Amino acid sequence: MTEQPKKQPAAQGNPTRQIDPQKPAGIDPSSTTLDETTRRLAERTRALEEALGRMEAILASIGDGVVLEDLEHNFIPLNDAAKIMLQDMADHFLGGDLEELVTENPDEEASTSDPWLIERRRFEMGGKVIGAHSAAVRSKDDERLGTVVVLRDVTAEAEADRLKDAFVAHVSHELRTPLTAIKGYSELMLIGATGALEDEQRHFVKRIHHHTKSLVNMINTLLDFSEMEARGELALNRHPIQLSTLVEEITEPWYLQMDDMQLAFSVEIADGLPQVSVDEKRLQWVIENLVRNAWQNTSEGGSVSVRLYEQSGNVVLDVTDTGIGISAHAQQQLFTRFYRVERTANIRGIGLGLYVSKAVLDAHGGKIRVSSERGVGSTFSLILPALQK
Ligand code: ADP
Repeated sequence: MTEQPKKQPAAQGNPTRQIDPQKPAGIDPSSTTLDETTRRLAERTRALEEALGRMEAILASIGDGVVLEDLEHNFIPLNDAAKIMLQDMADHFLGGDLEELVTENPDEEASTSDPWLIERRRFEMGGKVIGAHSAAVRSKDDERLGTVVVLRDVTAEAEADRLKDAFVAHVSHELRTPLTAIKGYSELMLIGATGALEDEQRHFVKRIHHHTKSLVNMINTLLDFSEMEARGELALNRHPIQLSTLVEEITEPWYLQMDDMQLAFSVEIADGLPQVSVDEKRLQWVIENLVRNAWQNTSEGGSVSVRLYEQSGNVVLDVTDTGIGISAHAQQQLFTRFYRVERTANIRGIGLGLYVSKAVLDAHGGKIRVSSERGVGSTFSLILPALQK
């Protein structure tokens, strides 16, 4: 018995249908019946509903509050935890701007394309510390859709940080006293208070003095850092001063040290500069730090120069070196905490000098700037508002 070919449904006006294997299976009204289209649409809707259900279940099961900030800066809670947190925030920050709370600087945040959730801000709310982590949301075509903000209870981390800062502050205090004594006694020996020193003895005491000075310097940095972390700012003891006198005092001992490294050192101070209102000790520390950085990062035969002048109602101090320079990428991170340029790993330091310097300048209403080129050198500038003459 021969099998009869099955009857095909008559396709009006389109008797032969070519099937293109390259074409993705989709809804093609010209090639499917209405029933087929409806069935596929129903299937898709079910799949979408399932995906949505899964997503909702995932969002509901995490303890963090997930919020979408749309392009009109509306905050849309995406899970119950977010609803509760936003309600709490509304209760605790009456009149406060939610946008500022989650994105410290909304303009800056909007411009970043970083796909990672970055902690932008921490704030206290009803006895808890909440960390706001955010990341830009973009479509496949890189169109900005908004910002996803994850509000996370970071009370335990904040407490651990507080304990760590308290520990660092305590240890630093304890270390500073004996180190200051060693530094003081070595200074006395160097000026001959215990009798004349032989060349070798002088050399050894000089080394002790030099290293103790760096240790005291590091410890002072750590203490300032702890204060900033604990209080969010530095307490200043400001007085009007003539910066030129301070700069002369700071740079004077550096002539010898620069000479030891065969570096040319020059200090240029403009006449008749206006006064500035500063915390002298803190500013002295910042300037010392900039000069030391220039000295550390410039090799033999190079030069370091310090220039103090007035510009547009500010007193400006430039510390310029012809050293190794800093790449554009590293320059962006220089003022963040614990940042150290990798290739300077052999130079001792804790990566806090510029971070604390920036905090000191910020607290004075001033600025710190860098301009640098790899292999050419760097200029760090301190800009301080001048007092009226
Ligand atoms: P540290 O206390 O470890 O020196 P800083 O915050 O002062 O930390 O400096 C951060 C990084 O920038 C360090 O790795 C340092 O070597 C580098 N840096 C600072 N000043 C200069 C400079 N003038 N030239 C080249 N690199 C520099």
